[in-house]
Amino acid sequence: MHNKTLKELSTLLHAKQISATELTGHFLARAQASDLNAFLHIDPALSLAQAATADARLADGSAGPLTGIPIAHKDIFVTQGWRATAGSRMLANYTSPFDATVVRNFERAGMVNLGKLNCDEFAMGSSNENSAFGAVKNPWDKLAVPGGSSGGSAAAVAARLAPAATATDTGGSIRQPAAFCGVTGIKPTYGRVSRYGMIAFASSLDQGGPIAQNAEDCAMLLGEMVGFDERDSTSLTAEQGNVREDFTRALHEPLAGLRIGLPKEYFGAGLAADVEQAVRAALDEFVKLGAILVDISLPKTSLSIPVYYIIAPAEASSNLSRFDGVRYGHRAAEYKDLQDMYKKTRAEGFGPEVQRRIMVGTYVLCHGYYDAYYLQAQKIRRLIADDFQAALGAQCDVIMGPVAPTVAWDLGAKTNDPVANYLADIFTLSTSLAGLPGMSIPCGFGAGDKNGKRPVGLQIIGNYFKEAQLLGIAHQYQQVTEWHKRAPEGV
Ligand code: GLN
Repeated sequence: MHNKTLKELSTLLHAKQISATELTGHFLARAQASDLNAFLHIDPALSLAQAATADARLADGSAGPLTGIPIAHKDIFVTQGWRATAGSRMLANYTSPFDATVVRNFERAGMVNLGKLNCDEFAMGSSNENSAFGAVKNPWDKLAVPGGSSGGSAAAVAARLAPAATATDTGGSIRQPAAFCGVTGIKPTYGRVSRYGMIAFASSLDQGGPIAQNAEDCAMLLGEMVGFDERDSTSLTAEQGNVREDFTRALHEPLAGLRIGLPKEYFGAGLAADVEQAVRAALDEFVKLGAILVDISLPKTSLSIPVYYIIAPAEASSNLSRFDGVRYGHRAAEYKDLQDMYKKTRAEGFGPEVQRRIMVGTYVLCHGYYDAYYLQAQKIRRLIADDFQAALGAQCDVIMGPVAPTVAWDLGAKTNDPVANYLADIFTLSTSLAGLPGMSIPCGFGAGDKNGKRPVGLQIIGNYFKEAQLLGIAHQYQQVTEWHKRAPEGV
């Protein structure tokens, strides 16, 4: 049952061969029995109440294609009645009085909330080891990280603890964990999915998206996620093209003549041989499907790391100033005066990586350094976006490459070296800085020292609003390959 796709589950539900209650019970039991630490909060009574509502809709004919299917949410999305921690001690006991727009949209579609998923604290990280509630284990190899920050989302789908999950991507946090766990994920164009109720990290970059077993499932999920939301000041409007659309419409489009750009910067030194081999084998499949490979260049790629690690911490330092012990969240038990209360609360509530970023962010924003760092970074951000516009359209239709330079590393291997973590984001940051959609699909396994157990992801990047095209390209690949159907041993 748990290996079935959303489409298959939907067919079973509508044919009354299984009820939403049974399906929810099945996944709840799997989630509760798992030792991966992917879930932070499970509440069977809440889930089963939603399942009963879904069953009623299935019975009275008001059900949609996703009604009755369970979905688990990254713990960055606030949920009425459920804890929302953002992976932080600061919010360890926080329950939101309202639902994030994304959560509400899925509820409207009749999906059943299965629980809240572990993530790096405030989505800062690439390995899930920054969670205050412990790292998630990679279901393919429990000695490996699941990727981050949406490590719980990717691991839950890979281990079939949930048929679908929400995730967020600020600099790669949907694509990289999807790659490390061998599942499919898409980060939409910035502004398409509402950030309302998504606990903020870097507001000009944060974007929600789905993780599931394959592209078709992601298309079904994304259809419920996009659309203008007046509660999000950077939400794209309908006039700008942000309308609900059927993302499954391009799934069957043939790929003959599709021009795939291969940035030379994505295939240079630093790319592990096993990752390159899997990615090149995937590209060969696309050639067999009629696509044409074109060499391109994205010359500012290497600048994406310093630019991102100025802009993201700057915005984080501002967003996280709200956690002051006064309004909500953790407050130190003892303090002398107000200043002391702020200091102790924030020192206790935030983990080391979050504190590091607040310090960097405050530094680059302060008077005297703002021009030298923050403003300069914003200018280069524009040039990074220009790189993509020079390539997309004129030279190629989409861009492909690896998601990350290596397969998942060992738990603990980079914990004491934040810069090593930052460098591993090289292939995902520029897409985020440019606000472009990007996705990751499984395309093989790493070899060598990882015993061939750790998945490799292929990244597909398109122009603004081209999500349907990306999903169609991924679907065509998944029609002729089996990587996305593989599940970890014992699943
Ligand atoms: N790894 C990046 C970081 O640590 C990206 C995280 C994300 O996309 N949320 O900031």
